[in-house]
Amino acid sequence: MSAPAILELDELSVDYGRVRVLDRISLSVRPGEVVGVVGESGSGKTTLAKAVLRAVDAATGSRILVDGRDVTRLRGSGLRAWRRAGAVQYVFQDPLRSLDPAVSTAESIVEGLRIGRVPAAEASRRRAAALDAVGLDEELITRLPGGLSGGQRQRAAIARALVVEPRLLLLDEPVSALDAASRDRVVQALIALRDARGSDLAMLVISHDIGSLAAMSDRLVVLDRGRIAEDGPTRRVISRPEHPYTRLLIDSVPLIHTPRANRPSRAPVRS
Ligand code: ADP
Repeated sequence: MSAPAILELDELSVDYGRVRVLDRISLSVRPGEVVGVVGESGSGKTTLAKAVLRAVDAATGSRILVDGRDVTRLRGSGLRAWRRAGAVQYVFQDPLRSLDPAVSTAESIVEGLRIGRVPAAEASRRRAAALDAVGLDEELITRLPGGLSGGQRQRAAIARALVVEPRLLLLDEPVSALDAASRDRVVQALIALRDARGSDLAMLVISHDIGSLAAMSDRLVVLDRGRIAEDGPTRRVISRPEHPYTRLLIDSVPLIHTPRANRPSRAPVRS
């Protein structure tokens, strides 16, 4: 029997006024899995992320389950308590939205733990584990975020999310703003993270760029104007797309690297 999903969306719909922008989206993210959601601008990717974070309301009939718990209708103190517990952590496209430019990167990384009143020794253990997971040196994070490269900043933002020990990382265009070399290192860091954490963690990565998603995702979900066009293992979706819209996305990218079938676990690249 397969393990229960960390995230399960069951016929998720979202309306903005009278316009339906997500239409009966069903997908699941299992422990240890990286699922990429790809679609053009306006296809509903951000709305999907907001719905999972419970920042927009889902329409009647939708269900959002996190680790088996139905969070679709949480409100008020119940919603605040769920957020505080931190099962879902969101990583912005722009890491400067989560790292305070005026304090050391190290301080920003553990900020979320102060709110949860995690003792100092435990906080530094988690910080070291998170840095190791994304391949960042302790020395580097003594700097302000402005003193880091774009890729290092993004890995620091991922470390900041990891210290909370989430079940699901929700990454929004994690590499789209980076140059090619930084992009590669962040993709490698995410692959290494997935291999290291195994079933403790799952990731949902949203992007318009099927090329970078294919490199890190086990499965691809293709979103076309608020509906799922297809959902399947990355290699199959890339090599034999079933939907013309997927073909269009693939043809817009010069070269796509898909994950190898049996990935050796890899130590994160350090810098
Ligand atoms: P993506 O992230 O894929 O670019 P979005 O989720 O931002 O897509 O948008 C999906 C659709 O919803 C688009 O047609 C967009 O114009 C519309 N939309 C997004 N936010 C709002 C809003 N706050 N009010 C009304 N329509 C919105």
